[in-house]
Amino acid sequence: MEKETRVADVVIIGGGASGLAAAIELGMKVPALDVLVIEKMPEPGRKIRATGSGRCNITNTEAAGFNRIMEFFREIGLVTRTYENGLVYPYSESAADVVALLLERAASLGIRFACGEELMSIKHMPASLVSDPLPGSSNVFQMETVIKDRDGMHSIVTQASFVIMAMGGKAGPTYGTIGDGYRIARNLGHSVVTPAPALTGIECEEWDEGREPCGITLGGTRSAGVVSLYKDPKHVFGEDTKIFEEAGEIQFTRYGLSGICVFNMSRHMRYDRRMGEGLDQFLVRADLFPDGDIAEYIRDRQNGKFSGTPAGEILRTVLKEPLADYVIKAADDGPDEEGRVIADRPVSSLTDEEIKTIARNVHALEFSPKQIRGWNDAQVTMGGVSLDEIDGATSESLLVKGLYITGELADRDYQCGGFNLSNAWLTGLSAADDIAAAVSSKGE
Ligand SMILES: Cc1cc2nc3c(=O)[nH]c(=O)nc-3n(C[C@H](O)[C@H](O)[C@H](O)COP(=O)(O)OP(=O)(O)OC[C@H]3O[C@@H](n4cnc5c(N)ncnc54)[C@H](O)[C@@H]3O)c2cc1C
Repeated sequence: MEKETRVADVVIIGGGASGLAAAIELGMKVPALDVLVIEKMPEPGRKIRATGSGRCNITNTEAAGFNRIMEFFREIGLVTRTYENGLVYPYSESAADVVALLLERAASLGIRFACGEELMSIKHMPASLVSDPLPGSSNVFQMETVIKDRDGMHSIVTQASFVIMAMGGKAGPTYGTIGDGYRIARNLGHSVVTPAPALTGIECEEWDEGREPCGITLGGTRSAGVVSLYKDPKHVFGEDTKIFEEAGEIQFTRYGLSGICVFNMSRHMRYDRRMGEGLDQFLVRADLFPDGDIAEYIRDRQNGKFSGTPAGEILRTVLKEPLADYVIKAADDGPDEEGRVIADRPVSSLTDEEIKTIARNVHALEFSPKQIRGWNDAQVTMGGVSLDEIDGATSESLLVKGLYITGELADRDYQCGGFNLSNAWLTGLSAADDIAAAVSSKGE
């Protein structure tokens, strides 16, 4: 295989959110630096384009480093809008515009890009062993990348004084992230907390072999509610075992549960099969009528003009039809002596016990997680390069001087709402600032 060689001052692996922020910041702070971004996809920023359903929720007023992130975007000329709930979007609400602006700024600062090129390995040696190291660098890095094209494999060796690994995690593999960074970080001596998909839907046992619960098509139904997660290896799931609760829109799908509150819940469902743990230690309860008391609502209608109305119809005045049908069917013990199911019986005929069961289903409808949706559906990765081995302020590796590990590649993940991109921008900026300070203080 033919091998080319090239040199740069700083090499950034990964042209995603973190890598692009780092490259632009370096270009602005130290224009003389030769910065090369290596990106395995045909162009940089593919995942950014998909964020926020194409609108790009760039940050959140509550995110760590919010002011620093906003300062960066103001500096590169992005106009933003902030919603009452703290979510910040580009004013145009177009993720493609954010990518276009980042790439335009990078180009105007002379940042070089090598796209369609995949990093295979990084080696490092003390800078004292090379004749002309960059001021401030302690190590010199040698990276091997490959380009696969119609003519076969083409290999390039790149030498640099600083390397930023901004290679993302494993979530969203169609955007280029399949976890390459973990292997490379391990080869450099780092440990990796086992990655798992997060911010994703939850498949539930109640959807038995593809059949929807009680034969009722819940898929496609959305309901405001509160989801709670219980964790108890003994499967008792008392109130003291509740580990998460969030109000929001619960989306019922063809496999189970989805929606932002469910995505956020998925981050709390870590388990280790090697320790004999399984998803059966978790239970989800959903309150579909958090603003009222369904038992009281039913009892109020047992006398007076609604007393003859079928119980199922009464529930449909509060819940969406498939959910009303499900909670009442799940409470049904079978037809009465006249052959009627609960849903068809007049509300006045419901016993206290039946009302209690319906109320339990409405306020604490139970779902048993069977599987967390995989990498293709996940928005983020839980786990990654251990934070014990990374300087939290600069993103520099504590094991290899001059190596920086930023963004989702490190073991950090956050809830929905702009926090994950915030982490990517902020850690990219901190790495760039640290390199800029190192080379400037040595007279670059
Ligand atoms: C569908 C979707 C929607 C999302 N929406 C939001 C949102 O609205 N707000 C929010 O805060 N977060 C959102 N996220 C999460 C957010 O996009 C990520 O956390 C963030 O992009 C991580 O940035 P990063 O730079 O660390 O990694 P990435 O953006 O994943 O970039 C890593 C880059 O490295 C490249 N790479 C990987 N391996 C190699 C290799 N061997 N050689 C060369 N290049 C390599 C990849 O191709 C990729 O371009 C969303 C995620 C998804 C999947």
